[in-house]
Amino acid sequence: MGRADLHTHTTASDGSLSPAELLQRAQGKGLKILSITDHDTIKGYLNIKDDAANYGIELITGVELTALWETREIHLLAYGFDATDKDLLNVLHRQKQARVLRMASIIDLLQQKGVDIDIDEIKAEAGWGNIGRPHAAAVLIKKGYVGTFSEAFIRYLSSEKLSALKTEYISITEAVSVIHKAGGVLSLAHPGPLYSSEEIEKLLSVGLDGIECIHPSHNFNLQRTFTKLAKSKNLLVTGGSDFHGTRKSDYDPYFGIVTLGEEHVVSIKRMASLKKNLI
Ligand code: AMP
Ligand code: ZN
Ligand code: FE
Ligand code: FE
Repeated sequence: MGRADLHTHTTASDGSLSPAELLQRAQGKGLKILSITDHDTIKGYLNIKDDAANYGIELITGVELTALWETREIHLLAYGFDATDKDLLNVLHRQKQARVLRMASIIDLLQQKGVDIDIDEIKAEAGWGNIGRPHAAAVLIKKGYVGTFSEAFIRYLSSEKLSALKTEYISITEAVSVIHKAGGVLSLAHPGPLYSSEEIEKLLSVGLDGIECIHPSHNFNLQRTFTKLAKSKNLLVTGGSDFHGTRKSDYDPYFGIVTLGEEHVVSIKRMASLKKNLI
C-alpha cells in the first residue's frame, strides 16, 4: 500500500512551490497519492492534472475552503468532487472576491496602525495565486515592519487582531451543500489545536464526512483521539502535511513524513462515488 499526502499548498494560493515543482518533490519523497488543497482555488490542480501520471502519482481533486461558522473562520478540506461543477466554480469565484475584499479591510486596519502597505504590493507577492495573509506577511517582512512570519501574525495578522473585520466567506452549511452536490466529501481541517470537544461535535453535526486526524499540529495522542472519534462516528480519516514550502516553513520538514495510508484514500473515494450516485 502506498502513502498519500492530502493536504498541500502551491503558488496557486500561499505555497511557495509551483504545482509542477510540488509534483516533482512528491515523486522524490515516494508519495503515491497527492491532493493539492490550495485555499479556495483548484487552479493548481487544473494546472497539473494531466501531468501527474507521468510522475507516477495519482492526483485527487482537493481544495481547502475557508468557511464561516457563526463569526469564526474555519478550514474545511474537500476531496473527490467534480472539478467542472458550475456551482462549485461559482463559489470559488466568490471566495476569491471575498479574499480581495478582506485584504482591503486588513490594509485599512494596518494603515491606521501606521503601516504603509497597499493591495498592489500584495497582489505582486501572490502572483497568479489567491491572495491571503501570508502574502501580506511577506510584504511586511520585505518592508522591514517585522522580522519573521510569526512576528507578522502575532503583531498584525492573527485572527484575534482581525476579529473586528467582517468577511464574505461562505457559511459552513453552504460549503457542505456545494461540495456534496459536486460529488465530493468534506473533512474538518486540523481540528487539534483549534476547537474544544463540544465545538467539534457541533461542527461535525453540520454534515461533515470526515476529520483530518493526521496533521503536523497533532501529536500522537491527538492523532489517536481523532482517529478513534472518526471510527466511532463512521467518518473518514483524512490527513497530510499542510506543506506550504518556505511560506510556512515550520511544516516544511513534514512533507513525505506526515502521510496518510492508502486504505483511507480508498474509503474517501468510495464515499465520494456514493455521493456522485446520489446526484
Ligand atoms: P488566509 O487564507 O488569508 O486566512 O491565511 C491563512 C493562512 O495563513 C494559513 O493557511 C497559514 O498558511 C497562514 N497562517 C495563519 N496563522 C499563521 C501564523 N500564526 N503563523 C504563520 N502562518 C499563519
Ligand atoms: Zn495556507
Ligand atoms: Fe488550514
Ligand atoms: Fe492548509
